[in-house]
Amino acid sequence: MPLYEYECIQCRNNVEDTLKQLRKGITKKKVSDAVKKHDNINHIGVFDLTSESVLAEHGKRDKEGTDLDFFMNEGTILVLFNLQKNFRFSELIYEEEDEKKIKCPFCNTKKVEKVVSSFAFTSDLSTDMPKPDLSNLPPSVRNRTFIGDYIEEKDRPKKNR
Ligand SMILES: [Zn+2]
Repeated sequence: MPLYEYECIQCRNNVEDTLKQLRKGITKKKVSDAVKKHDNINHIGVFDLTSESVLAEHGKRDKEGTDLDFFMNEGTILVLFNLQKNFRFSELIYEEEDEKKIKCPFCNTKKVEKVVSSFAFTSDLSTDMPKPDLSNLPPSVRNRTFIGDYIEEKDRPKKNR
């Protein structure tokens, strides 16, 4: 039986819009505004991996939530999102009719997109991802990586090579 992956457009946009804003410049206000504005985002942490400092942080992490990490500035900045539910989710589809019933597990909208991808979200590619030093964060954060923002070897920070 086929297992397909879907993304909630709205929930994904909340994350993408936040990243877009942060790429133009990181401010504490942008981070706190994003957490307040977007229901699906529990917490955002922005870390400078070169100086190992927290640039901005807002909200409260939920251990039951989903952590997604994104890298910016050639891998020197880590943006860590804690979401109530991942905007990407899997569904088993037995027949065509099933697809019409698919809803976002967080906001229940039916505006979802099928993810066209050659590998599964949980693929083991993540084991080769650079692991920034986040020893103060729970293992779930450290072990989870987001393939959508995979960093090329050359773009990784030197200390992670
Ligand atoms: Zn949603």
